[in-house]
Amino acid sequence: MATEATSQDAAIERLTYTRNFGVVAHIDAGKTTTSERILFYTGRIHKIGEIDEGTTSLDWMAQERERGITITAAATTCFWNKYRFNLIDTPGHVDFTAEVERSLKVLDGCVVVFCAVGGVEPQSETVWRQADKYGVPRIAFINKLDRTGADFFAVLGEIRERLGARAVPLQLPWGREDAVIGVIDLIRMKSIRFDSANPASTPEIGEIPAELRAQAEQYRHDLLEAVAEYDDALMEKYIHEQPVTEEELRAGIRRATIKTAQMSDQDEKREPIFVPVLTGASFRNIGVQPLLDAICDYLPSPLDVSVPLAHDPVTNETVTRSPDEHAPFAALAFKIARDQFVGKLYFIRVYSGVLRPGETVLNATKRRKERVSKLLRMHANKQEIIEEIKAGDIAAAVGLKDVTTGDSLCQEDAPIVFERIKFPEPVVSMFIEAKTKAEQDKLSNALGLLQDEDPTFIVHYNQETGQTLMEGMGELHLEILVDRMRREFNVDVLTGKPQVAYKETLTQAVPEVNYKHVKQSGGRGQYGHVVMKLEPAPPKSGVTFANKVVGGKIPREFIPAVEDGVMEAARTGPMAGYPVTDVTVTLYDGSYHDVDSSEIAFKIAAIEAFKQGMMKGRPVMLEPIMVVDVVTPETCMGEIIGDLQSRRGKVESITQRGSSRVIRAYVPLSEMFGYATAIRSLSQGRAAYAMEPSRYEQVPSNVAAKLTGKGAS
Ligand code: GDP
Repeated sequence: MATEATSQDAAIERLTYTRNFGVVAHIDAGKTTTSERILFYTGRIHKIGEIDEGTTSLDWMAQERERGITITAAATTCFWNKYRFNLIDTPGHVDFTAEVERSLKVLDGCVVVFCAVGGVEPQSETVWRQADKYGVPRIAFINKLDRTGADFFAVLGEIRERLGARAVPLQLPWGREDAVIGVIDLIRMKSIRFDSANPASTPEIGEIPAELRAQAEQYRHDLLEAVAEYDDALMEKYIHEQPVTEEELRAGIRRATIKTAQMSDQDEKREPIFVPVLTGASFRNIGVQPLLDAICDYLPSPLDVSVPLAHDPVTNETVTRSPDEHAPFAALAFKIARDQFVGKLYFIRVYSGVLRPGETVLNATKRRKERVSKLLRMHANKQEIIEEIKAGDIAAAVGLKDVTTGDSLCQEDAPIVFERIKFPEPVVSMFIEAKTKAEQDKLSNALGLLQDEDPTFIVHYNQETGQTLMEGMGELHLEILVDRMRREFNVDVLTGKPQVAYKETLTQAVPEVNYKHVKQSGGRGQYGHVVMKLEPAPPKSGVTFANKVVGGKIPREFIPAVEDGVMEAARTGPMAGYPVTDVTVTLYDGSYHDVDSSEIAFKIAAIEAFKQGMMKGRPVMLEPIMVVDVVTPETCMGEIIGDLQSRRGKVESITQRGSSRVIRAYVPLSEMFGYATAIRSLSQGRAAYAMEPSRYEQVPSNVAAKLTGKGAS
């Protein structure tokens, strides 16, 4: 008993000192630099690699280095005082939204980096909304205080106004722009001075300079007032103007930060989330150590967050787990990456129980058993082989085979499936082919492996034309994948231009399509006969097949061939050969021949029936519609709206944010190529925008006529 209690205590102690967090930001705000500094100060890397020189240790893939952006969400472990940090890297570019989502799903808290000059950019909002969706508690870090034009208070105002957060500074800047030397700590009411040129030196704690005293008092007062609202004991002290200790204040901030964020996901009319605001200049080594302390003080431990929704795949009942290492093992595979030495790495977040190398686990999503051969902890500069991974922790497993991103792994006799990560549908496509015949195998191997890693990357192989079509989330997404094929897989490829991934569907139900495929050519003939119904289905439902044949009119062994035929035919629609979506096909009648019926005959019959059915159902083309947010000075608003309208855009709202206006519009993706250049010239570089896929809509007939090569009627 005593030992069990001690081991429970040890488990709680371990989790109390664990932080699974990510750093998220608009591109260029300084996420990579800040992550680098985190790794530097946590003592795991000894030389600061500058992102500008492309030597950063987090961005381990070659082309990421070249572009200076981070794409994969690798988890890196490091230590700060008593705390274990699992730093989950997240991409900043909106083309990789799915990557951000998947990391948000497994991290418990995050640091959002803002640029003190650029402030809240449209993409920061996108990421912020995603963090809201998952109820992730946040700390804001206003970076680049040293830059010309840096304005801490303006950015603070934007976080409040544009993101609707209760952003409360725990620090104020000390010094301006080039002359910034440190921060004022409103919790200790001290100044902290950093030696930029000497990053390893300990920051110097001192008194608040006289000229900043009044401002500091004012913000300290605001801080107490804000925290007191979430804490009765602090409220008492605040009202009676009694002294509040550092510990009390930190505990109050922690509670407010975690509680308000977690509520945000559920309530329609939620209260603003409480966000502690810190500041500094990562590049100049200013403010990073206090940020590390804040991660420990205010971001949740695995004990503070609830384990995601899950169900039992057999009974379909809801299952709840707690981060208890004595409970059955359950984990989520959230990222697959390749390692040149050990093969595939499956990054997993363990929600309950313990996993050891050599153990067999159940992939409850795919209902397959898998054996884990090795467990690795990834540090910035090395991989460490570990003997176990426990609830609340993140590591990479090796040896698994058929596991894709989002699969649930668990103990065999305690099956559990976590809610799947929902990935948006790809909206851009591009033809790809190997330069030479000899390279073809290499290409299909590369495409297969890249698809395993990235659920938003889809490859279609068209047997009729022999062409391969890649689909992804944006131009840059596909461009980077092609780059990886060249570099990592050494395949020489030719590609087409990125194109909009159109789809086709029908608009009218076709109650009966009757098709008989009969061939009599001496010897054994072919006979397949199907009668089916085609109906429009709700958006995003894809093509579904149902079998309602009764009385053995079509023997059961031929039904899968019919389904195969339907699915194959659905890959190329009748209008312009784009994939068909949102159609329900019901097979309800048919006939067979004792000798002549075969799988292939039924498949051919199904293909033809589906094609005919589609033609009868008034087919239309669908195009991806993007939700576009443009932030612009008022003076450029008219021109920007006019331009959006000329792109077939529909303006949904115009709101005021500080001195800027935010235009939200829905615009077909096909009209958005080259928008970055257009908006720059329309606004002389003063407007910014972000866009993400929203839905598919019918292409207007005059536009469709051009796409199908048939003149408008
Ligand atoms: P990311 O795109 O958010 O990962 O941003 P990076 O970390 O790559 O930084 C973008 C650029 O800003 C790089 O040129 C950095 O050197 C620079 N940068 C990052 N932090 C600071 C800072 O605190 N001050 C200044 N002046 N530049 C910074």
